[in-house]
Amino acid sequence: MSLLAFELPAFVIGLLFGSFLNVCISRLPHHRSIAKPRSRCPNCKQTIVWYDNIPLLSWLALRAKCRHCKVPILWRYPLVELAVGLWFAHIAADLGGLYLFPPSSAGGLLQFQIYLVGLLIFGFLLIGLIVMDWQTHRLPDAFTFPGILIGFLLVCTQAIFLNPGQMDIKLTPKHDLRLSSPGSFVAKGNVFLTGPEHLVFGRVVAIAGAALLLLAIRGIYKALRGQEGLGLGDVKLLAMIAAFLGFWSAMLALFLGLMACMGYALVLLARGKAHGMSRLPLGSFLAVGGLVAALFGDVILGWYGSFL
Ligand SMILES: [Zn+2]
Repeated sequence: MSLLAFELPAFVIGLLFGSFLNVCISRLPHHRSIAKPRSRCPNCKQTIVWYDNIPLLSWLALRAKCRHCKVPILWRYPLVELAVGLWFAHIAADLGGLYLFPPSSAGGLLQFQIYLVGLLIFGFLLIGLIVMDWQTHRLPDAFTFPGILIGFLLVCTQAIFLNPGQMDIKLTPKHDLRLSSPGSFVAKGNVFLTGPEHLVFGRVVAIAGAALLLLAIRGIYKALRGQEGLGLGDVKLLAMIAAFLGFWSAMLALFLGLMACMGYALVLLARGKAHGMSRLPLGSFLAVGGLVAALFGDVILGWYGSFL
């Protein structure tokens, strides 16, 4: 069976979610309802009929112009649809790979499936936050708070499907009491945290730790510069990344985001387009860092760990 059997339907579903995400991007930062009214041309206010609202295709068919007033349709619309479509297709390829090369245990399969479903939601939210922060300097609570909650609940669900003993933390591992064959019986007395406790409590600490760290950076920046450099939206965004990916991946996203944001600031300064008081869309860069951490976090953190 070809992997395209997973990727192509996921791409189409991703385009539809991307179309919905465009509605969220247009309305959430301005506190407008995403349910109604129906989509209209921002210029001539004509309601957009369904055949002019098909992801990617309508934009191409209309040659990127409104059918009625011919005002250009922003590049953002097809780009967001394409981005979500490609993200869904990429995750679906991993999901398809699970069926072709399943993990050894049923619990392992379920854990990984839950993780990948989490990544689908994570990418959808991050792509939206990248564009919203870039365009409006806002990271709506309507994305970050549910994001933190969904990420955490998915980890709780993963904890249910841990194999016995998986991720247990033991106080004195060398005093394990093993009877008969290995694994058939292990003393429970020295288990400090069971695997599920480790996973769930660990994630609570990761979320709180990531948020507190950024709050501390925010406080230090404010004390040194006498002005706000980081919004609370950035704090919630990093907590959301920690909720989905864990603490170290969130730190990787923070590092990458800060580096990219500084690079962007230097480019702006060099071209005379910014000054010391300019507002930078740090949240957009943090969110890109989150996507990179989701895709390559294990490789990058493993490579970094090999030096320690
Ligand atoms: Zn129009």
